[in-house]
Amino acid sequence: MRVRGRPLVAGNWKMFKGPGETAYFCRALRERLDGIEDVDIAVCPPAVSLAVAVQVLAGTEIAVLAQNVHWADEGAFTGEISAEMLRELGVYGTIVGHSERRQLFGETDESVARRVDAALDAGLWVIACIGETDEERSSGQTELVLRIQAEAIRDAVGSHEQLVIAYEPVWAIGTGKTATPEQAEEAHAFVRTIVDVPVIYGGSVKSENAPELLAQPHVEGALVGGASLDLESFAAICETASSVARR
Ligand code: PEP
Repeated sequence: MRVRGRPLVAGNWKMFKGPGETAYFCRALRERLDGIEDVDIAVCPPAVSLAVAVQVLAGTEIAVLAQNVHWADEGAFTGEISAEMLRELGVYGTIVGHSERRQLFGETDESVARRVDAALDAGLWVIACIGETDEERSSGQTELVLRIQAEAIRDAVGSHEQLVIAYEPVWAIGTGKTATPEQAEEAHAFVRTIVDVPVIYGGSVKSENAPELLAQPHVEGALVGGASLDLESFAAICETASSVARR
């Protein structure tokens, strides 16, 4: 599904939508986005709903991504899932290093880099998340934080062609606060000087703010949390990305 140069819109469902709701939503999404062009679209359901999403979206251009992956092929890692297991399910890629994983589950730059490396090695696409906290931004450390996080990933895998970085300022995730288009553009252009891969924006993206954010030259798509759970909101963001790409 992924074509370089096309915007990517990915919906991070977090811990929402079990298999039943996933089947229903994916059927509706498939119909709603039928024929959409010039945009790559992905959904990232919880692990238990991946198989049904793959099944319902088979034959469409909508990719299914996991929300995390472990670095080992197999082993005594209770609660974890390997890249090979995801591939066996027909999953196309995975998010890695989401700020909720970093903040709530002890994910570090080192563990993020290991997960990214293993996933790419197995042939999966990766959306690797980086971003500063409110405190880090107010104390003028945004670039330092982005540099440290982006370099950890780059040093592990380089500017890999199946890697996408998501710039997700922590203060904008699930808060309703969005980076201004200028803040996003500035951060994306900076990240691009460290790792030469597409950079998508995440942090309270909604159908209302998507046009301005996606119009920025270095904003190459969106990682959408809350708004991706609603069919019309998510479809509207995908349509915005498609029309921006045509300009
Ligand atoms: C996310 O979960 O990656 C995210 C950006 O969430 P939200 O859009 O709800 O801020």
